[in-house]
Amino acid sequence: MKVKPLGDREVWLLTGSQEMYGAATLRQVEQHAGEIAASLDAEDEIPVRVVGKGVATSPASIRRVALEANAADECAGLITWMHTFSPAKMWIAGLTALQKPLLHLHTQFNRDLPWAEIDMDFMNRNQSAHGDREFGFIATRLRLPRKTVVGHWRDPTVVARVATWTRAACGWHEAQTLAVARFGDNMRQVAVTEGDKVEAQIRLGVSVNGYGVGELGEACAAVADAEIDRLVAAYEEDYDLAPVLRDGGDKRPSLRDAARIEAGLRSFLDTGGMKAFTDTFEDLGALPQLPGLAVQRLMVDGYGFGAEGDWKTAALVRIAKVMSAGLPGGSSFMEDYTYDLGPSGPKVLGAHMLEVCPSIAAGRPSCEIHPLSIGGKDDPVRLVFTAAPGPAVVAAMLDLGDRLRLVVNEVELVSPDGELPRLPVARAVWKPKPDFATAAEGWLEAGGPHHTVLCRAIGSEMFADFARIAGVELLVIDDSTRMRDFLNELRWNDAAYRVAGGRA
Ligand code: MN
Repeated sequence: MKVKPLGDREVWLLTGSQEMYGAATLRQVEQHAGEIAASLDAEDEIPVRVVGKGVATSPASIRRVALEANAADECAGLITWMHTFSPAKMWIAGLTALQKPLLHLHTQFNRDLPWAEIDMDFMNRNQSAHGDREFGFIATRLRLPRKTVVGHWRDPTVVARVATWTRAACGWHEAQTLAVARFGDNMRQVAVTEGDKVEAQIRLGVSVNGYGVGELGEACAAVADAEIDRLVAAYEEDYDLAPVLRDGGDKRPSLRDAARIEAGLRSFLDTGGMKAFTDTFEDLGALPQLPGLAVQRLMVDGYGFGAEGDWKTAALVRIAKVMSAGLPGGSSFMEDYTYDLGPSGPKVLGAHMLEVCPSIAAGRPSCEIHPLSIGGKDDPVRLVFTAAPGPAVVAAMLDLGDRLRLVVNEVELVSPDGELPRLPVARAVWKPKPDFATAAEGWLEAGGPHHTVLCRAIGSEMFADFARIAGVELLVIDDSTRMRDFLNELRWNDAAYRVAGGRA
């Protein structure tokens, strides 16, 4: 059996029919359902196991599968497909009970119509066209958020869309148990990184809790010298070390401090079962330097991070890491930093003080040490690189007071116009879609934060699927965005969410 990148999780395929067709037809329905489940399971693109749950022909059996899906920790979502006509009142109890993400796969077992041979037997074995309409009605009548995917089950486009939803469902699955450690509080006076943590846990499952930076300092102090030696050897292997950081160099002790912080941070998070964290340069306690290298290396290993107390972005980075498991391209904490408004085309230069994930790097990072003009600590060690070119998205979440909003902008990462010999931080340069002015105007009107997660591995459809599952408002800025429509979307969403009590 092939190894799946999220192979500890499953999605289930439940096929609908009814007893009226008789045992012989239902045996064939069962066979078709099993074949489709096995085919989806064999697709490399789908990152989890796909488990066939047979054919449901009664309200009781549908409800039973829904309850089992709710209770199964490994089940990330349910796919339904009506092979035959499955009277949808049978689905009310099950769908009402279902608490897992739902995908409605509108497919048909046979791809081609055999025009010369088609008879009523063929019609009975290939009647999803009306079976799935009955299902779509009841799902809509129940106001069920779901993804609907249409097309033949072997079609690569269909498989890709199912795979995208599956990854989004795994992101949601992760959020349900995600714990974010917040070292120190928020950067003083900053608004957008704040928010209602209780509401976020109710809506997203994400639990955010504060820890004194003193506790982190104790974990760092407890790191053994041998562990620091091991990490420093790994740095020498993985990066081009600046001369001052090499063995015998003036700043070698700072590299060892950075290793101590990495090991302490990792052990603190792992002991508490936390897969994301925030810090703030205004509250570092006994830490000798702002964690830079440590944060970058933890992100590469899948931990979420948000700077300046930004727990929403920390959670989103972790969710993006899970959703993109096994895909090339990487994802990182990011900040819109500065612009090139010159004639070579407006561009954004994204970076942070230090904390950009090398999973998005174009080449081998260099490991350097430079002064940080804020915070009043020792110079921090960091990895310096430029993000690889290609398509990407930036995504961010904000708290509007009555609801959470997810904003996504499709962008094209480009190479910088020249070398950046004096910029001592990792960076990414991009051109936003549809154009710089529309993207930035839309982002500002939407209240989009300066902190984002930048993803090269996943696109806006996956974030849209995630938002739908989470019941979170989604705004996408892409090639089809026009400001007049976008401003209307903001106004109409405000009305829709007010009517729906914050969830639509
Ligand atoms: Mn920042």
